[in-house]
Amino acid sequence: MIGLIRDSSTIKVDDKIVTVKGWIQDIKNLGGISFITLRDKCGTIQITLPKKKVEENIFRNLVTLTRESTVIITGETKKSDQTALGLEIVPIDVKVCSRADTPLPMGIVDKVNVEMDTRLNNRFIDIRRPDVRSIFELRSIMMKSIVDVMTRNGFVQVHTPKIVGSGAEGGATLFKIDYFGRSAYLAQSPQLYKQMLMSTGLDRVFEISPAFRAEKSNTNRHVTEFISFDGELAWIDSQKDVMSVIEIVIDHVLKEVSEKGKKQLEILGKKIKIQSPPYPVLTYSECIEIINNLGVNLKDGDDFGTKEEKIIGDYMASKGKDLYFITEYPSASKPFYIMNKDDTSYSYSFDLDFKGQEISSGGQREHRFDRLVSRMKESELDPNDFVFYTNAFKYGMPPHGGWGIGIDRLLTKMLDLQNVRDGILFPRDVSRLSP
Ligand code: ATP
Repeated sequence: MIGLIRDSSTIKVDDKIVTVKGWIQDIKNLGGISFITLRDKCGTIQITLPKKKVEENIFRNLVTLTRESTVIITGETKKSDQTALGLEIVPIDVKVCSRADTPLPMGIVDKVNVEMDTRLNNRFIDIRRPDVRSIFELRSIMMKSIVDVMTRNGFVQVHTPKIVGSGAEGGATLFKIDYFGRSAYLAQSPQLYKQMLMSTGLDRVFEISPAFRAEKSNTNRHVTEFISFDGELAWIDSQKDVMSVIEIVIDHVLKEVSEKGKKQLEILGKKIKIQSPPYPVLTYSECIEIINNLGVNLKDGDDFGTKEEKIIGDYMASKGKDLYFITEYPSASKPFYIMNKDDTSYSYSFDLDFKGQEISSGGQREHRFDRLVSRMKESELDPNDFVFYTNAFKYGMPPHGGWGIGIDRLLTKMLDLQNVRDGILFPRDVSRLSP
């Protein structure tokens, strides 16, 4: 028997006979009456079973079910001022779709703090929690907003190979694979390919794809497979053109997620702060000064680690800014494809940091063949391994620049998640290869 198909967000008392589908979250047997909390993807519905009014086999069938079993229940709606929806359902027909095993590997609504590892090992259960599921719904809203804003700004979505013969950043963080007896690698980023496209007339491209890093970094912001959102644009005057596009994109994403994800943000108890562009710009040298003023002893050329990023994050937060660029890093700390700043030891590079953490890096690229090849040699890379790439610079390459944004980190910072893994369905890291 089927009534009007309803879920917890659409059901009304006036529906009279409805069919609802979901998981048995809880069963309370009080002798003459039993209550079942049925959870669907939108919320919960109370199923009330007065023993005298419900058919015996339906009653038995339901009250002997285990938590998290899946059922389809048809019943009569009754007004109730005891429930959040203001109604309850008295069943007249039940279909048990599957009976859940016991005990459950982890609770869903229990207010106990479950370890991240247990949650990830049982991700299919973890995602039944409305707050966890909301993160992934918000992620989906974010991804759509990125595609929309990029497309609207004339960018073409592309896909480049993830099995490659050589990597952009050198050997240390490449995953080596056996490719029919030859050595190949999992792509660290689409860097070389998106740059090659700049010579083709496809002069504004973006890609959203997995990137792989064989980094043994056991932190809350590193995973070995992440989703990289890359953009590249030709005919730029300077890296500022690239930074302006990022501002347009991030601004749109924050607004769209706030607007379209209201329901999920409410579940998470979050409000996204929209910081209007332009985002503040600090040079690397200014950052060194800020950090050293706090008693740290950084030298020109030193890299910023978690601690330094956090110091700058706190400094910018005190000025009410969550998003800011850090520009002109030392050339020596940047990959070979970043353009040197004239005759200095700095580069036309930038990072975008969000609440004290790098979420993006980018810059103007070196488009002049000779300089590119010498930069490669300086980085101890063999230009012969990159001929497929450098050829694209030999026969007419416009000035260009671009960025890579870690989608997982953007989500983490936007929603103030504790760990980048919170926003990844099935994360991969140094110790995790399953589920
Ligand atoms: P970090 O210094 O924080 O390890 P990176 O300098 O290696 O980052 P890039 O190579 O510049 O990062 O990559 C661009 C963006 O890709 C980063 O800003 C970040 O958002 C994302 N990213 C890079 N590596 C990882 C990783 N291991 N896990 C998650 N995201 C990553």
